[in-house]
Amino acid sequence: MEIRLAKSYGFCFGVKRAIKIAEESKNSNTLGPLIHNKREIKRLEEKYGVKVAETSENLENGADVIIRTHGIPKNDLENLREKNFNIIDATCPFVTKPQQIVEQMSKEGYDIVIFGDIQHPEIKGVMSYAENPHVILDVSQIQGKRLKEKVAVVAQTTRKIDEYLKIVDYLVKNYKEVRVFNTICNATFENQSAAKDLSKEADVMIVVGGKNSSNTKQLYNICKENCEDSYLVEDENELKKEWFENKKICGITAGASTPDWIIEKIIGKIRDFKV
Ligand code: SF4
Repeated sequence: MEIRLAKSYGFCFGVKRAIKIAEESKNSNTLGPLIHNKREIKRLEEKYGVKVAETSENLENGADVIIRTHGIPKNDLENLREKNFNIIDATCPFVTKPQQIVEQMSKEGYDIVIFGDIQHPEIKGVMSYAENPHVILDVSQIQGKRLKEKVAVVAQTTRKIDEYLKIVDYLVKNYKEVRVFNTICNATFENQSAAKDLSKEADVMIVVGGKNSSNTKQLYNICKENCEDSYLVEDENELKKEWFENKKICGITAGASTPDWIIEKIIGKIRDFKV
């Protein structure tokens, strides 16, 4: 059986950067897990002493605190500073960007529209930099509102461009001045389109990633649409030999929080099956 890797898979730039920052900040703490991958979190703890704290209440004064890729609200950041923690900022630059944009646009008197999920940590962070932002999930949520003449709009990094364009289209048709910022990050979509291509060719697809990671689940659903025999696994121990019997091509992809060393173990185990 031939094993093929998707053209794009696994860690995005922001996550690679956050892990490197964590590795370089020995014995530091993250508020919540750095990424959705238990084994990587364990590796960071065992090898670099990076611990996960659920809240800053449990941390000693002056402790090193790593801010995760999604960022945190401005007030939370200020509170951490006031408590004298040493802040190590691993917020992805693609997330810092919309924070800066909405802050600047608010100062310049624009009404801020944010296309994203108000419950998501990234959006909680971005909206904290804006004055009275309108956070919407689709265009209907803005249609009844009367905004200022000047409107600035940003999107959550993981949103789909087609849906963003519907909001932009509505705003441009209804307001005199609209500043549109393309804050969507392509990393998620690159993995998705590569998974789609590969799952069309493969007889069996292995999607590697955390079962609580939404982007891994999305990848799995895409694969399942094209390849009936698609499986989502967190590590090599979950693989079963019978999945690969009588198959010609095994495709492998991985969620954005899956490190390469886990993928290598997966490949090793599949080869050991000798199918
Ligand atoms: S998906 Fe994009 S925005 Fe999110 S952490 Fe990765 S590179 Fe940054």
